[in-house]
Formats: sequence, structure tokens, C-alpha cells
Amino acid sequence: MVALRAVQTIDNEIHHYNQQRQELRDRLARLGELLSHGQAELDEKQQKLANVEKFYREKDMELKADIERAAKAKNKLSSSMKQKDYLAAQKEIENLRRANTQKEEEILKLLEAIEEYRSGVRVDEAKLKVLSDELSAEEAGSAERLAELDRCIAEIEARKSGLLEIIPRPIMSKYARILLNRDGLAVVEVRDGTCMGCNLQIPPQSYIQLLRVEAIMNCPQCQRFIYAPETIAESD
Ligand SMILES: [Zn+2]
Repeated sequence: MVALRAVQTIDNEIHHYNQQRQELRDRLARLGELLSHGQAELDEKQQKLANVEKFYREKDMELKADIERAAKAKNKLSSSMKQKDYLAAQKEIENLRRANTQKEEEILKLLEAIEEYRSGVRVDEAKLKVLSDELSAEEAGSAERLAELDRCIAEIEARKSGLLEIIPRPIMSKYARILLNRDGLAVVEVRDGTCMGCNLQIPPQSYIQLLRVEAIMNCPQCQRFIYAPETIAESD
């Protein structure tokens, strides 16, 4: 029973350290998720920016080609032309001029959109940099803490394996079962005849037996191993 109580204490310690380790890992995982989410958003914005820039270059090339065509049409104009051809050339020039004005407006709008996307991308890049620096710092700090926790847990496990050698195997497997089913608490006190695990009033006959430390006993209701604190001094 003494050994069982010691195992319970050790398991409480292990649970405590495991929890700390899990919290650290969870925190790092959350930061990592945040970072990859931000990176995905940035990638999307950069893709949009690249699309707009491509569209801008196409429009710009179209405009330049049209300006060239208008210049050529102007050069062809001469007083020696037949009036019909002259009018046709003039009409073409006029149409090109109108189309180009429209294209110029489109291009200006595209330039505005490009500038907007670029500044959005810059802001996101800065934010992401901060986040990734934060994650690197956390990882560096946590690596030490995680190694420390691993060492603690290993050291406690070593102490536990020493105890396991002196506890009969059937009792140990029963202990493990109860630990799993009863929220990590398998060994409890009986105070004034009451189980501290489930508050059951232990039947008087069992309680007397418990006080005599005649055998390893379990609570009839929650099945946890029970002991009377009054008996500790004697059995220790
Ligand atoms: Zn109980």
C-alpha cells in the first residue's frame, strides 16, 4: 500500500509535467498555424497582384501599338489623296484617338489597383515577419523548457520503475485500469469512514478491516484503492 501511494504521487507529478509539456506544444502549434494561414493569404494577394500587373502590361502594349497605328495613319494623310480615302483615314485616326483615351483611363485605374495591392502585400509581409520572428523566439525558448520537462519526466519514470518491481503485477494492472477510468486518481484516503474519491460511506466492517491494515482494499463504489491515514505511521 505504501508503494501504491508512492506510485500515485509519481503519476500525479508525471501528469503535471505532461500537461505543461502539452500546453507548450499546443501554443507552438497555434502560432505555427497562424503563420501558415498568414502565408497563404499573402500568397493569394501576390498572385492577384501578378495578375493585375500582367493585365496592365498587355493593355500598355495595346495602347502603344494603337498610338503607332494612329501615327502611321496620320503620315498617310496627304492632300493628293482622293477625298474618299482621305475621309476614311481621318475617321480611322479619330476612332483610334477615342479608343486610346479609353485605354489610357483603364491603364490609370490598373496602376491605382496595382499600387493598392502592393501596399497591401507590404503590410502583410511586415506582419508575417513579426509573427515568424515571434515563433522563432518562442521555439528557441521552448526547446530548452521542453528538454527540461523531458528530463523531469524521464527521471520520475525511473523512480516509478523501481517501485513497480515491488508491487505485484495484478495489483499494478488494476491500478492502471482505475487510474484511466477515474481521472488519474487511483489511490485515496478514507477519512472518518468516507471514501475521499467518491464520498461513499465505507461499510463499518470494511472500515474496521481497513484500520487494521489487513489487506489491500478497494472502495466498493468507485473501486479506488483505499487507505486510512491513521494507519500510515504504523505501516510506514
Ligand atoms: Zn470510493
